[in-house]
Amino acid sequence: MTHRVAIVGAGPSGFYAADGLMRTNPDLHIDIIDRLPTPHGLIRAGVAPDHQGTKAVARQFDRLLARPDVRFAGNIEVGRDLSWDELTTGYDAIIVATGMVIDKKLGVPGEELPHVWGSWRFVGWLNGHPDFRQGPDLGKVKSVAVIGNGNVALDVARVLAKSADEMAKSDIVPEAGAAIAAAPLTDIHVIGRRGPEHASFTNNELAEMGRLTRAVAVTEPKGLDAAPPASDPTPERLRKIKNLEILRGFANNKAGTKPVTVHFRFHAAALAFKPGVVEFTPNTLKGGKLPADLVVTCIGYGGEEFPKREDVFPVGWAKRGPTGTIPTNRAESHAVAQQVLAWLDERDPKSGPDVLPIAVDAAGWHRIDKHEIAAGAAKGRPRVKLTDWQALLDVAQGG
Ligand SMILES: Cc1cc2nc3c(=O)[nH]c(=O)nc-3n(C[C@H](O)[C@H](O)[C@H](O)COP(=O)(O)OP(=O)(O)OC[C@H]3O[C@@H](n4cnc5c(N)ncnc54)[C@H](O)[C@@H]3O)c2cc1C
Repeated sequence: MTHRVAIVGAGPSGFYAADGLMRTNPDLHIDIIDRLPTPHGLIRAGVAPDHQGTKAVARQFDRLLARPDVRFAGNIEVGRDLSWDELTTGYDAIIVATGMVIDKKLGVPGEELPHVWGSWRFVGWLNGHPDFRQGPDLGKVKSVAVIGNGNVALDVARVLAKSADEMAKSDIVPEAGAAIAAAPLTDIHVIGRRGPEHASFTNNELAEMGRLTRAVAVTEPKGLDAAPPASDPTPERLRKIKNLEILRGFANNKAGTKPVTVHFRFHAAALAFKPGVVEFTPNTLKGGKLPADLVVTCIGYGGEEFPKREDVFPVGWAKRGPTGTIPTNRAESHAVAQQVLAWLDERDPKSGPDVLPIAVDAAGWHRIDKHEIAAGAAKGRPRVKLTDWQALLDVAQGG
């Protein structure tokens, strides 16, 4: 008898945990369960569709699914299709890799208005997440406010700002790409509550905003000579110093010299959203308000509850919250895998029945993958995603 481990969530942290387990004990039986019929978590549903290089890590994860003792079980939501209790009867240990799935709220009036979108929903739409097939109506959107100073805010601003040609080699869902290309967009405001010396942008992603063909990045020179906090560790300080240098370059640019202007605005705390306008707390933004036909808040995520028991081991965003990139998850998931192995070492394997309901297996996912890649090849794109639940299930089942 071998031990059985369930990994709930087939995103990077779940796959890195499987990898860590297999490296030390290749005889384990591992089931990687996901509520979607497709694996890869935010690599598929979050990472921007024009950053295909970042998404390439998914191929490495697919190789794990070819191992005889690793099963993929898609289209099973733990807590809905299978209870956490049922899961514990069938497995010796459970690794929770469910990520974070709820948009955080700013807590200001107007957040529920239809033109105010959380980035989870917005990015899910761009990326073809089957829960978010309906995007915002961009038909009359001239000015967009992107609230937040991290890379997700840059992703949102960049995908809106890029030309159709620049998006041609991406896997943005065609409906979203067409809606963005047809929108009468002229201004995108990327808005931070604090100063530029605190922004969480990474250097490459910020610099890319200065190289867009249909958009010019601008900012006010005021405040760009600020120093990052002395208490920051050296790599953080260096990143922030470089960001300030990039922003000083943007301060030399002129708004309106290209069809779209991306304005970086700092020290501006949103006070309220109203139709067509964002109001700011007094003395934060000059003039106190900005026009915005669409608002996308990029201020982080929350997660769902899971049982806290000694045979349940969280990893990734479910463990530490919505921070860290794909590689950040690797070392942490490997370390948790070692804890799981130590726990299993002290216990005999359970002999309960296989509790997994019928699901989309790895072969089903490969059918979806092949179908999407073929649909993309016809258009010179990496893939055209299936976005409808039933279509995903039909193709997975060979339909
Ligand atoms: C918009 C955005 C852009 C990003 N861009 C980058 C980037 O360019 N580069 C980079 O390195 N990092 C990027 N990141 C960060 C990166 O995506 C995360 O570090 C990483 O995905 C976290 O991995 P995870 O496995 O913990 O969670 P996730 O990737 O979220 O995976 C969780 C999985 O669990 C599944 N799940 C949830 N609940 C259940 C349940 N009850 N039952 C079954 N399955 C469930 C979900 O369907 C999902 O597949 C980005 C993040 C976001 C939000």
